[in-house]
Amino acid sequence: MQDDAQSPSWRPPSLDALLRSASGADLVAIFGRQASAACLRDAIQAARTAGGSDDAALLGDAALCLAKRRALSIKPVFNLTGAVLHTNLGRAPLADTAISAMQQASGFVNLEYDLAKGRRGERDSHITEWLTTLTGAEAGLVVNNNAAAVMAVLNTLSRGKEAIISRGELVEIGGAFRMPEVMVRAGVKLREVGATNRTHLKDYEDAITDKTAMIVRVRPSNYAITGFTSSVPEKELAALAKANDVIFYDELGAGALVDFRQWGLPYERTVQETLSDGADIVSFSGDKLLGGPQAGMIVGRADLIKRVAKNPLKRALRLDKATLAALAATLQLYDDPDSVAEQLPSIRLLARKVDDIRQTANRMADALRPLVAQWAVQVEGCASQIGSGALPVDMLPSAAVTMTVPEAIMRGRGRRLDRLAAAFRALPQPVIGRIAEDRFWLDCRCLEDEAGFIAQLGELQVP
Ligand SMILES: *Cc1c(COP(=O)(O)O)cnc(C)c1O
Repeated sequence: MQDDAQSPSWRPPSLDALLRSASGADLVAIFGRQASAACLRDAIQAARTAGGSDDAALLGDAALCLAKRRALSIKPVFNLTGAVLHTNLGRAPLADTAISAMQQASGFVNLEYDLAKGRRGERDSHITEWLTTLTGAEAGLVVNNNAAAVMAVLNTLSRGKEAIISRGELVEIGGAFRMPEVMVRAGVKLREVGATNRTHLKDYEDAITDKTAMIVRVRPSNYAITGFTSSVPEKELAALAKANDVIFYDELGAGALVDFRQWGLPYERTVQETLSDGADIVSFSGDKLLGGPQAGMIVGRADLIKRVAKNPLKRALRLDKATLAALAATLQLYDDPDSVAEQLPSIRLLARKVDDIRQTANRMADALRPLVAQWAVQVEGCASQIGSGALPVDMLPSAAVTMTVPEAIMRGRGRRLDRLAAAFRALPQPVIGRIAEDRFWLDCRCLEDEAGFIAQLGELQVP
């Protein structure tokens, strides 16, 4: 009882007595005995340190602790950051059909079972036909994400041999995924050619030897090299690879299946174009421009896909049933390209017109003004990003609600903004904005559930 030194007069109640009390029994009924006891023990310990507490307060603290323990850690947030495909916020929001497909796939399903033949089937069969139909590829398969796809392709088709890549494409994609290191891990010898800003066909030509397995083209997705630049068109690389009997691997990253210019968005090379330009094998993400769950697609020549499928790595990198179901449902939406922008939330949000966003911003500003009386609330123009390294240099015109500290209060402005941002994050469905130029910005491009946003504002603890 040395902890009691501060307040020798307080004698903690017995855990059993607390659990047997009326409120204690309620907790046990809801949360179970083990968790209730653990939280009560913590509450007693905290009270010891604080010098004492009464039983009701201990039980109240335990109830809070239990509620927190049971709350789901992953929960919906409002992504008002301005980056639509935000990796930290789960990238692409799924289509309704993808969500219900996941639900349907949660029990026993014909995941690897051929219902017609009554025997073992192929896990990837649920998506390969969609992949080949939509992209025109001979064959396709799917793994955990595009990073895994890169690993699987390189390791299968280039292990112990050389892969030629331009110095301008030795990129770090984020999260310590650096192309040169990945290639080394995949057992591939890196053969760098050209300079950061310029690489010519001759550079590739000169690098080809009998040790060469492939030429790799990586789409520089999260940066752009501008100015005095030159890179070799895919068609020429494909022809060079073919003439020398090596593989041409195009690592696309974003992976658009439709032309984004039809929605006034910047041009992004599609998987179909990449294949028709002669790539032997192509990889891309499921949760970037495709708008589906996390996945990595590999499409291309049937003989190469077959080799990747046989690599033991493929087994380690395979998808689970819920993800496969969501991916198949997402790909299915591309069967009707005319309606894909309405059905797929990611494209719908990317294509959203600035006038429409501004109207949302105006309504949100009206709702916020009376609540954050100390703050100057405005609607301002801003620029959203596609995010996830897709189309890095292009910004989409958007509108935001901004909140500023009144001019009179200059001191501690930064800290006040931090506290305001934290208050929005503390809402039941956290609202994530960004701080820039002395203001807190809520880019309204991704705000569709206006009623849900407004309904919880009463709980905002304005600093
Ligand atoms: C995003 C990206 C990756 C990684 O894809 P994940 O699906 O996030 O694993 C790989 N290469 C390029 C070029 C990318 O843009």
